[in-house]
Amino acid sequence: MSVQVVAAKMAEVELKDVPTGKDLPADSPMTPTSEGKSLGRNDPHEAGSSAAASPTAEPSAKAGEGSLGLLTPNPAKMPQASAMKRSDPQQNGGEAFVNRDGTVAEAPRMKKIQFADQKQEFNKRPSKIGRRSLSRSISQSSTDSYSSAASYTDSSDDETSPRDKQQKNSKGNGDFCIKNIKQADFGRREIEIAEQEMPALMALRKRAQGEKPLAGAKVVGCTHITAQTAVLMETLSALGAQCRWAACNIYSTQNEVAAALAEGGFSVFAWKGESEDDFWWCIDRCVNVEGWQPNMILDDGGDLTHWIYKKYPNMFKKIKGIVEESVTGVHRLYQLSKAGKLCVPAMNVNDSVTKQKFDNLYCCRESILDGLKRTTDVMFGGKQVVVCGYGEVGKGCCAALKAMGSIVYVTEIDPICALQACMDGFRLVKLNEVIRQVDIVITCTGNKNVVVREYLDRMKNGCIVCNMGHSNTEIDVASLRTPELTWERVRSQVDHVIWPDGKRIVLLAEGRLLNLSCSTVPTFVLSITATTQALALIELYNAPEGRYKQDVYLLPKKMDEYVASLHLPTFDAHLTELTDEQAKYLGLNKNGPFKPNYYRY
Ligand code: NAD
Repeated sequence: MSVQVVAAKMAEVELKDVPTGKDLPADSPMTPTSEGKSLGRNDPHEAGSSAAASPTAEPSAKAGEGSLGLLTPNPAKMPQASAMKRSDPQQNGGEAFVNRDGTVAEAPRMKKIQFADQKQEFNKRPSKIGRRSLSRSISQSSTDSYSSAASYTDSSDDETSPRDKQQKNSKGNGDFCIKNIKQADFGRREIEIAEQEMPALMALRKRAQGEKPLAGAKVVGCTHITAQTAVLMETLSALGAQCRWAACNIYSTQNEVAAALAEGGFSVFAWKGESEDDFWWCIDRCVNVEGWQPNMILDDGGDLTHWIYKKYPNMFKKIKGIVEESVTGVHRLYQLSKAGKLCVPAMNVNDSVTKQKFDNLYCCRESILDGLKRTTDVMFGGKQVVVCGYGEVGKGCCAALKAMGSIVYVTEIDPICALQACMDGFRLVKLNEVIRQVDIVITCTGNKNVVVREYLDRMKNGCIVCNMGHSNTEIDVASLRTPELTWERVRSQVDHVIWPDGKRIVLLAEGRLLNLSCSTVPTFVLSITATTQALALIELYNAPEGRYKQDVYLLPKKMDEYVASLHLPTFDAHLTELTDEQAKYLGLNKNGPFKPNYYRY
C-alpha cells in the first residue's frame, strides 16, 4: 500500500478531528521528489558541495507551487550544519563512531542524562563477573535528546539484576527483560497520563482504524523508555508493526512503563540503572533473536544502528530504513553517508521545523523555570537576570522570566537578534555592565567561554549561574577548579563555589544543560517528535523501491505541517482555509505546503 493511499485514507476517516480537513491530500506530504531531497550531498558546509556553493542554490521554488518538488530542502538549512551545532563532543566523549576515513570506530560513552547521585550508587553495585561482555565502552548514546523520565516506582532496593530473573507476563510470555513485571499496572496509568498530551499519536491510531500502514513492519527501537515512548510503541503496534525495544540511555527507563509494555506483549529489554554491559546486552537481545529480523530501525543516538553495523551487517539486506531522532545520531548518519557506507535510506527527524521550534523555543521557555526552581527554589519576581544570547533558546528563557516578573537583560553579538531583544522590551547590555548586580546568569549562545573567570570573580554573593546552550562550554567551569576556591555540593546538580572572602556562587549542573540535567521535558514536545517518528517510519516502510536511495533525508515540509495540524485540535484551534482565489493569488496549493523551505517561522 502506498503511503499516499494510507495517508489519504487516514485523512478521510476522522476529518472532523483536524482543522484543515485536508492534511494529507493525494500529493502526499510524505512523497519525496526524486531529485534534490538527498541532504547528505547538498550540505553547504561540506567542501565541494556543488549545490551549496552558490547562494542561488536556494530552492527556486516559491511557496505553494503545488509541486512536491518544492519540498526540496533548502541547503542553507541542511541538517548537518544544525546537527553539528548541537552535537556535543564533550558529552559524547569527543569521538564520532565513523572515522574521517569512513571506518567505523569505537568511542567512549557518556550518557545523556546525568543523575550524578544515581550513578555513584549504581557504581557501588557489584559487577557481574563471568558475563559475556558484549562490548567495551563504545556506546554512542546521544547527549541531545530528551527524556521526561521520572521513575516513580524505582525499586532500587531490589538488587537482583533483571538478567538474573525469570519473569513472565500474565499471558505466559517471557520475551522481555525488565526490572519488575509487577509494576505493570502503575506503568499503565503513567502511559494513560502521557496519552492525554500526545494527541497526534492518538489521532493517528483513530485514523488508521482498519488500515495497517505498518503491517509486516518489524521495528527495532532504541530510545528512552518512558511513558511517551510507550504511547509511540503502542501506536506503531496499532498501525500493524511488531516492535522490539531497548533503552538508549542507562538511566532514563521508567521501570513501571517497561513493565506495562512487557505486560502488553512488547519485547522490551531495559531497566533504570543498566550497566554498560547490560546496555549492549539489551540491544543485542532486541536484534539477535531466532525467527525474527527487523526491517525498520528507530534510533536515538545511533547506538542501535552502530551495533547492527558492527555485529549483524547482513541484517541491512532486509532493513528498509532508519529513522533517527537525535543530533548526534543524525550527524553520524551523515558521516556514514559521506563515507559511502550508509546501506539503507535514513530519515533525519531531528531537523524538522516543528521539532526545532518546539525544542529550542517552547521547551526552553517552559523548562528554564522548572530547572531553576527545582535546583534553587529561587523566586523569580524582581530578580535581575542576564540572558546571554537571544536566539531561539534565549528568547524562550527571556519570555518565561519576564512573565514571572524578573528584570531581564540580554547580551548579543548579532545586531538582528539584539534589535529583536530591544523590540521585545529587554535591555541590551554588555555582560560586564551588569555582572556585579545580577542575581541569575543564563547562557544560551551555543558558543564557548561566554562566562569566564573574570566575570565569575565579579559576581555578587549568591548569584546563580547556569547554562541552557551548548553543553558545558559556555561557562568556563574549569577556571573554577583552582586551589583557592572551595566547591561544596549542596544538592544534586547544585554546587556552591566559595571564594576566600566567603562569597559564593551557585553553579547548576556544573555548567551542563540545566533543563536536561535538572528538569523534565513537557510531554507535548515529545509528542511532536514521536509523531514525526511514526510518520517517517510509515513513509520509509511504504516507499516503493528506488524512491529513497542510501542517503539521509529530511522530512518534507508538508509532513511538518501535518504533524503540526495533528496537534491543533488540542487547542480547539480552527485553521482558515484558503479560497481558490486566494490560493491562486499567493501561488499556493490549498493543501500546502504553505511556506517555502527558506521561511524562518
Ligand atoms: P541560535 O543560534 O538561534 O542563538 C544563539 C544566539 O547567541 C545567537 O543569536 C548568537 O548571535 C548569540 N551569541 C553567540 N555568541 C554570543 C556571545 N558571546 N554573547 C552573546 N550572544 C552570543 O541558537 P539557539 O537555537 O538559541 O540554541 C542555542 C544553544 O542552545 C545551542 O547550543 C543549542 O544546541 C542549544 N539548545 C539547547 C536546548 C535545551 O534544551 N537547553 C534546546 C535546543 C538547543
